[in-house]
Amino acid sequence: MVIVMGQEATGDDIASIVAVVQAAGVEAFVSRGVRRTIVGLVGDVTQLDEASLRGMPGVREVMRVSTPYKLVSRENHPERSTVHVGGVPIGPGTVTLIAGPCAVETPQQTLEAARMAMAAGATLLRGGAFKPRTSPYAFQGLGEQGLRILAEVREETGLPIVTEVVDAQDVALVASYADMLQVGTRNAQNFALLQAVGAAGRPVMLKRGMSSTIEEWLMAAEYIAQRGNLDIVLCERGIRTFETATRNTLDVSAVPVAQRLSHLPVIVDPSHSGGQRDLVLPLTRAAIAVGADGVIIDVHPHPEQAIVDGPQALVDTDLGELAQVMRDFPPLLGKTAAAALTV
Ligand code: PEP
Ligand code: MN
Repeated sequence: MVIVMGQEATGDDIASIVAVVQAAGVEAFVSRGVRRTIVGLVGDVTQLDEASLRGMPGVREVMRVSTPYKLVSRENHPERSTVHVGGVPIGPGTVTLIAGPCAVETPQQTLEAARMAMAAGATLLRGGAFKPRTSPYAFQGLGEQGLRILAEVREETGLPIVTEVVDAQDVALVASYADMLQVGTRNAQNFALLQAVGAAGRPVMLKRGMSSTIEEWLMAAEYIAQRGNLDIVLCERGIRTFETATRNTLDVSAVPVAQRLSHLPVIVDPSHSGGQRDLVLPLTRAAIAVGADGVIIDVHPHPEQAIVDGPQALVDTDLGELAQVMRDFPPLLGKTAAAALTV
């Protein structure tokens, strides 16, 4: 069951609802949005009287939700959401370009990649300081030193940063530097991590698990939302199929399906889907055409020297074409490329 409270609901109104719910032995998870607050109930709700809940101050609707994901479902939140990251919108009406290196390697490489990202029209910088690697012998990222480099590059360029957190224990540390926390495909069902990022007070980009169904992906988002954080962006990054010609199979259908089922913004990672430089621009066009709210793209000043994912990184000579795609494609869908908010 979900209780939707209006903008006019006061802190006391919400506290009264929570008290009534808890008195019936049911857990209440409060997610505050800009225009409404959603109280998600977990437990045996049979003791609760819907009509009296509906009559309490600030309550707009009381609903039994049929989807297993309540807070991220579009059923009780029909308008699509916009998530702001350091002032940059991700949501309907815009296409946001997030770009940067797969991994933070050196200050110089990160700054050069950030400048490349800006030249292509990016308004958010990506870069991993904690890398989830398939091999325990592979470079695991620079850790906090990498976060410091990202913060310096943000200072220099003004680009807010999106960076991955791989362990629940590191969430507070990463959140102290990041503008948006990324949960990667390998951690898409790490429920303790999802709960921890849900409580971190930062927007979250949740990659789809490489073997997750769309429903499992939305349930993962629900773990984050249940901890009070509705600032979640879903990212389709390709799934495992029998095909071996690409790193992953980009599931373009997942974009409109996830947007139909959930109010959350949905972006696409054409770099980790295709895994090859020459596929990134075609997949970016496909992502925008199918309605993605943004794309996240690897760029590197010297991919031949990259420690991680060099073969899929766009290079200097690709930036003009990427900038052109970002300029020309969104208007075909009635959208604009997302600009940074100037405050
Ligand atoms: C990444 O974006 O750096 C990354 C590791 O992606 P994924 O989790 O999709 O593999
Ligand atoms: Mn990568």
